[in-house]
Amino acid sequence: MSWRCTATIMILNYELIGSQRGAKDRRAAPEGVNATMSSLETPPHVNPYWAGLTGACPRCGNASMFSGLLKLADKCPACGLDYSFADAGDAPAIFVMTILGFVVLGLAVFIEIVYQPPYWVHAVVVVPVAVILTPLLLRPTKSLMIAMQYFTKAEEGRRVK
Ligand SMILES: [Zn+2]
Repeated sequence: MSWRCTATIMILNYELIGSQRGAKDRRAAPEGVNATMSSLETPPHVNPYWAGLTGACPRCGNASMFSGLLKLADKCPACGLDYSFADAGDAPAIFVMTILGFVVLGLAVFIEIVYQPPYWVHAVVVVPVAVILTPLLLRPTKSLMIAMQYFTKAEEGRRVK
């Protein structure tokens, strides 16, 4: 799949999210049940994929949602969005492990087949690649999960009374 096709799909998804936002919110929580999620509003100018991949606030897009390398801020310093709703769970780690597993193992197998070096070469080449790429991929993956959670208003299921 080319990058143009991927970008087109992302734009179509964004348009779909925008059109759903204009419709009546069927998933709105009852009064007082989950005030944080039900009070979320999204201006249409923030692209959820761009905000997620850059780690920007999914509501205003003007500030980072992180206060550390992987630690979320309590709220957005620009618009005050409370990040207490955010729960990416294990999804970022699972995605990064799956993607990096192919990359790192593929690199190790490639080096072994083509060059057949001593084992210490693998430790010098492959281990740093894994150590450097992990946080580089983990941060945008985590922020993308949280941005998607914000835009789709995803939350834990609960009983309807
Ligand atoms: Zn914000």
